[in-house]
Amino acid sequence: MKGFIGARQTTLASEILITGTGVHSGAPVSIILYPADGDTGLRFLLSNGDADSTEITADQRYVTGVTLCTVLGDGNGASVATVEHLLAALRGLGVDNALIEIDSQEVPIMDGSSAQFVEAIDEVGLVELDAPRRYLKVLKTVSIKDAGASGELSPHNGFHLDVEIDFDCALIGRQKIELDVNPGSFRRELSRARTFGFMKDVERLWATGLALGASLENTVAIGDDRIINREGLLYSDEFVRHKALDAVGDLALAGAPILGAYRSRRGGHRLNSLVLEALFADAEAWALVEAPRPFREVRHAELSHRLAAANFAAERS
Ligand SMILES: [Zn+2]
Repeated sequence: MKGFIGARQTTLASEILITGTGVHSGAPVSIILYPADGDTGLRFLLSNGDADSTEITADQRYVTGVTLCTVLGDGNGASVATVEHLLAALRGLGVDNALIEIDSQEVPIMDGSSAQFVEAIDEVGLVELDAPRRYLKVLKTVSIKDAGASGELSPHNGFHLDVEIDFDCALIGRQKIELDVNPGSFRRELSRARTFGFMKDVERLWATGLALGASLENTVAIGDDRIINREGLLYSDEFVRHKALDAVGDLALAGAPILGAYRSRRGGHRLNSLVLEALFADAEAWALVEAPRPFREVRHAELSHRLAAANFAAERS
């Protein structure tokens, strides 16, 4: 079964082993995605061989870094970096609960996109749990301006993204994408868009011992006047699509699927994080709401329509 959006929470139908390389360390990484119970959310389990392992919930409160990638930490020295492309795949396909065991401090970069995570999840499929799905409903607009970037979450019945970038580089320039995010559109429009970097920056990072795992296998490399990768771009506007993919992953740190519209201008991980922080700082700006149970079993194609038309009642607390 492909991912679906319904009234009940989901998890993976079985466990998944994924191996790859950390983009910053260049070291091999294994992750195992396990099915998890309802209302447990997306959680990382940092395993240390036989030593104590640490659990960190994929939640905005645990964000400890937003430079180059998004980092989660427990405040006691345990951390996991580059969580965004994996979280984008899980959230994008509608996986509400999963335990992600990882034997390194960063999620493997794979090909720089969410494509291989999506393939692996699609291969095992999802199961519905008894727990009703809860959405984070945006009740009023929150906006952030930050060093030339601006971001905004506003009320919307569904999850809508409107992302624009504007680089002072002719190979990227100004690009914009707007879409309603559901498993189908995520797979098709965003999941394959790869991360990108400028050759001059990569060389500088290499010199300081960072981005050791970055290569043409996992990064679109932008030279002075051309794309270095032999295969070129997968989409003509792959850059803005990747920024939208990052936003799906970073906003998964809301802890529940969002009912709202996210607008980002010249943004990145830092902006995504600041907007979520601003949302949670204002108790009147959001509420957790339960999806109504469907009256009958409906097919996937019908669900997005039904979801858009559904009336979400605020949960009583
Ligand atoms: Zn990214």
